[in-house]
Amino acid sequence: MPKFSPAETQLPTEELDKLAGPKLVSWYKRMLSQPSFAKVQQEISDALSKWDENNRWAGILHAGKRDEAEQTIFDKIVAKSIPSQVVFEDDKVLVFKDINPQAPTHLLVIPKRRETLSQLRFATAEHEGILGHMLAVVAKVASEEGLGDYRLVVNDGRGAGQEVFHLHMHVLAGRPLTWPPG
Ligand code: 5GP
Repeated sequence: MPKFSPAETQLPTEELDKLAGPKLVSWYKRMLSQPSFAKVQQEISDALSKWDENNRWAGILHAGKRDEAEQTIFDKIVAKSIPSQVVFEDDKVLVFKDINPQAPTHLLVIPKRRETLSQLRFATAEHEGILGHMLAVVAKVASEEGLGDYRLVVNDGRGAGQEVFHLHMHVLAGRPLTWPPG
């Protein structure tokens, strides 16, 4: 509520009603007449205004943005509604064999929840946990599968070869990999 009704940008009551429901809004307004509640409200409201000023919302997962990219085949693979050859999974990531392998071993590592990561370019500080976890899983799977030397690839954007808009890392191994890549 402090986000939507700080004194200086107070939303019209009808807007607030739509957002929070008339019962909650009238309770909130009644509570504001109590000095201790009003003080807390002011403190939160000031802090939130600072967040706005410093553009902190932009760095917060989901804040102000919706994941508007269409669902991809990877959501179905995660849901197991279409089959895949799973090599490793935990609650956060799935590792499975690429259907069209470009090397004797070609694995895909994906976050189970895409969130806003249809592409790596949308990553923010909030994604460091999942991105770091994906890399740790690559290392673990590469070791357990005895991959030896391998290459890790993220295609970001159509011009870079991305076809599926759900962040994924390709793990390629089992043949000499030349440089520069194509
Ligand atoms: P991108 O080109 O987007 O970087 O990579 C997408 C990868 O997903 C491709 O290597 C492609 O072969 C793989 N892929 C696409 N559809 C499927 C599928 O239904 N199952 C599996 N296992 N891999 C898929």
